[in-house]
Amino acid sequence: MQQDVERVLISEAEIKAKIAELGAQISADFAGKDLVVVGILKGAALFCSDLFRAITIPAELDFMRISSYGAATKSTGVHRVLLDLDYTLEGRHVLIVEDIVDTGLTIKFLKDYLSQRGPASLKVAALLDKPSRRKVPVTVDYRGFEVPDFFVVGMGLDFREKYRNLREICILKPEIYES
Ligand code: 5GP
Ligand code: MG
Ligand code: MG
Repeated sequence: MQQDVERVLISEAEIKAKIAELGAQISADFAGKDLVVVGILKGAALFCSDLFRAITIPAELDFMRISSYGAATKSTGVHRVLLDLDYTLEGRHVLIVEDIVDTGLTIKFLKDYLSQRGPASLKVAALLDKPSRRKVPVTVDYRGFEVPDFFVVGMGLDFREKYRNLREICILKPEIYES
């Protein structure tokens, strides 16, 4: 797996430190509030579980899975909910946890979808942010790292379902993407 990596963009130590920082900030911001953390499968599963452990206030954990149709490395903005939440959101504080915000279409869809359930607030945490590719304006309330316009893998992010278990954020060798 490691031999397919061209370059490490963000190290494991940097990711760990950033998640601790985000966890502390979220814990302070939502202290005394009824917080539901919503991880978006599958990409955010690893970030979400690390972030959730870094949150030191009472909170609930739930997951959603959505599909977006299209090519392996592009988001089309057409979404379907494959797994929905167990919990009601009425009057609760919701934190959506995503792996990466690219065009912003997925977050826009999720915010529109979940805001219909009457949450008291709806915020977004994303490990990575690629603002140069935005098609719709999206606020990332808790951002790990800004990345340039490369297709990245690792820490939950895949290329054709592989490389999610890389511990760093990496760019793969061009021949891997071309194969
Ligand atoms: P958006 O809807 O913001 O365009 O894209 C969100 C989703 O596209 C992410 O949750 C992720 O699944 C996928 N995506 C966007 N950029 C990348 C990338 O650089 N690497 C990987 N592995 N997935 C990406
Ligand atoms: Mg995702
Ligand atoms: Mg993917």
